[in-house]
This record gives sequence, structure tokens and C-alpha cells, in this order.
Amino acid sequence: MKTNQILVRYGELSTKGKNRSSFIGRLRDNIHHTFSDLGKLQIKAERDRMFINSDSEEDMEQVISRLPKVFGIQSFSPVTETELSLEAMKSAAETLIGKMDTEGKSFKVTVRRANKDFELQKPEILHGIGSHVLRAFPGLLVQMKNPEIDLKVEIRDKAAYMTAEVIQGAGGLPIGAGGKALLMLSGGLDSPVAGFHMLKRGVRLELIHFFSPPFTNDRAKEKVFDLAQKLSEFGSSVNLHIIPFTKLQQEVHKQVPDNITMTSTRRMMMRVADGVLEETGCKAIITGESLGQVASQTLESLHAINAVTTTPVLRPLIATDKLEIIDTAMQIGTHDISVRPYEDCCTIFTPANPKTKPKLEKVEYYEGFVSFDELIQEAVEKREVIKFPRAKINEFDELL
Ligand code: ATP
Ligand code: MG
Repeated sequence: MKTNQILVRYGELSTKGKNRSSFIGRLRDNIHHTFSDLGKLQIKAERDRMFINSDSEEDMEQVISRLPKVFGIQSFSPVTETELSLEAMKSAAETLIGKMDTEGKSFKVTVRRANKDFELQKPEILHGIGSHVLRAFPGLLVQMKNPEIDLKVEIRDKAAYMTAEVIQGAGGLPIGAGGKALLMLSGGLDSPVAGFHMLKRGVRLELIHFFSPPFTNDRAKEKVFDLAQKLSEFGSSVNLHIIPFTKLQQEVHKQVPDNITMTSTRRMMMRVADGVLEETGCKAIITGESLGQVASQTLESLHAINAVTTTPVLRPLIATDKLEIIDTAMQIGTHDISVRPYEDCCTIFTPANPKTKPKLEKVEYYEGFVSFDELIQEAVEKREVIKFPRAKINEFDELL
């Protein structure tokens, strides 16, 4: 008996109509990439399910332990192969069920006899395996409809294949299936979590960070590097664009009254992001904004910020409570990096009394005294780009 095959169920993926084959292809490529450090895997993708095969049992163990972190998979089951005899199947069933918690659990056996020449008929196989398992695990209760443990046996020409355990997948969509977007990554708690939610929806990320030396120091930058590294551990490489933001920020402070500098600064960030977006093929901007969290995150404020761009701005956390965000940050391993006490450019320039209801006309009026175009162009051109290659997914233990 050996585990040399894994059955993968797509879940949401399989409901995607015409796009389905491209989603499935993407998932197959992502699995190949994720396990490129192992020996060659054979992946057979069918309409409703996928089979991963390898000759190495060690590699199979690795795949089983790392697969729960790959987006686009609803659940999967290791498949055990045995020789075509009732005795072999009985003993494999006992081993498989022995790995699970059986006390008080409902149970049934399902048999598919694809090999019509097999010497035993279906009822004999069902009875032989079922009674053997029930003797070995007296805590099991037989139940035909929706049992907790469903031992499936498939009799084929050369061997029998058995599955019992169903392992939960990460859900979501395969990374890359949703195109690419530009995440505004500060050093705070929210934006990395916002990035995680979009990765889970299959969106590949490009990162942008606004850096204002000497008001912010290298420690703040290091924090962002570490967050970028964490985000690369979800199965996709990321580029981080570091924008020299000091001149723009100082110009804003010179031109607009104190209580609307926050709004104006955000608008400058959006305009720079648009410049980077054009060069990177991203189709949207992502932020970590959450309604009502701070002065810059009221509807009036978001309205004034948004008016500066026609690019879709995605805010996956807009209706999320801070406590939920903290929970996710802990699960995905970004929390401890985000709470390091180094301030970013916004904290330092935060006015004492920012307007919670900035008027768009007023912001536009003050910004209108100078042209920010050149400074924006310069910020885009002088950016530093750092590539974070896709990290091996098993270095990332906390996810989900
Ligand atoms: P975060 O925890 O993500 O820093 P926050 O609650 O501190 O968010 P703000 O400081 O108002 O909120 O920032 C709102 C959003 O603007 C952030 O989630 C982020 O997407 C973006 N942002 C803010 N500062 C920067 C920065 N220095 N570089 C890149 N993006 C930034
Ligand atoms: Mg912040």
C-alpha cells in the first residue's frame, strides 16, 4: 500500500463557466511552481478534480503538508493504492481510518467497481471492508447519508484506490487568475491584511511604499521590506516600489492649510500610484482603508481622495473591524512586523486637527496654486524597485 496520489477538489473555481479551463490551468501551474523544489510531479487536471502524482512517498508527504496553503483549492484527499485483493484493501482501510478520530463518528464505505472483471462483486467488497473496519474501530456508527467519514474504494484494472481523509484547502482563487493590482503598503497593520485578501481572490500584487527621509528612517523601510517578504510567501513574487516622497509632502504642507494636508497628501499618493500603475500593467489600486478608523477614512474624505483618479481603488477592509484585522494579521504572520514602533511618513506629518469632512472644492482650490505634475513625475521616475522572489510556501507556517 502506498500514497502516491492526491485528489484535489476545486470548489468555487469549478463554477466559473467559460473561464474554468484557464483557472484550472493557472492552479496547475501554481502547484508546479510551489513544489518546484521537489522531484517532478505529474498533475492531471480534469473538469471537476485534479490528481497529483509522484513516485516518491517523501515528496507526497511534503505536498500534503504544504497544499493547504495554496489558494484555489477547496479540499483534497490523499489516495492510497493497494493490490487487487480483499485482504490488502481491508488492511489499507484499517491504516487509513486509524489516522483519524473515530470515536462517535458516522461512517460508510462506498465502492466503485470500474474493473468489471474483478473476482468479487460490490456487496462482497462492501461487506468485507465495512465489517473489518467496524470491528477494528467500535466507536464508529454506520450512517448512509452524509457520514463524517466516507471511505471510498475504487477498483480499477491494476490496483484499488482508497480515500477517507478530507483535508481543508485555503479556498479562494489561484493567484494570477485575477490579474494584477498595486497595493499601497504602509508599515501599519491594515495594508498587508488588505493585500492578503486580494491575493486570496487570485490577484497578483505589485507594492508601492511612500518614503520620506530624513523624517522617516531605515527602520521604517526595513519594516516594509519584511512585510513585502511575508506577502511573497503566499505563492507569488512581488516588486516593491519605494517612492521618494519628501519633496511632494513638503510642497503640500507649504500650499494647503494644515487641516487638509492629510487629504491632499493622500491625493498625491494616488497620483504617483497612477504613474507606477501605467508602467506595471496593474489594473487597480488597493489600500488598507477601513471606514471610520481615522480622520482620513470618513466617506467625505474618501470622496475627496478618490476624485483625483479614475483608477478603481479597492478597499477590501472598508467594512472590517480593527479587531478582525488584527486577528488576520496574526494568522498570516504580519502582525509582529507591523507593530514595530517606527513611524511612517504620514504619522510624522499628521496635523493636530485633520478635517474629518474635507471639502473637495477647498482641497482642489489650494492644490491649484501650483502644478504638482513635475514633482509627481520625478517621484515616479526616481523610485527604487526591489524584487522579492516567491518564497517557499512552507517557510510560512501561520497561514489559516
Ligand atoms: P495602515 O495600517 O495600512 O498603515 P492606517 O490605518 O494607518 O493604515 P492610514 O495611515 O490613513 O491608515 O493609511 C490609509 C492607507 O493608505 C493605508 O492602509 C495604505 O494603504 C495607504 N498608505 C498610508 N501611508 C502609506 C505609505 N507611507 N506608503 C504606502 N501606502 C500608504
Ligand atoms: Mg498607516
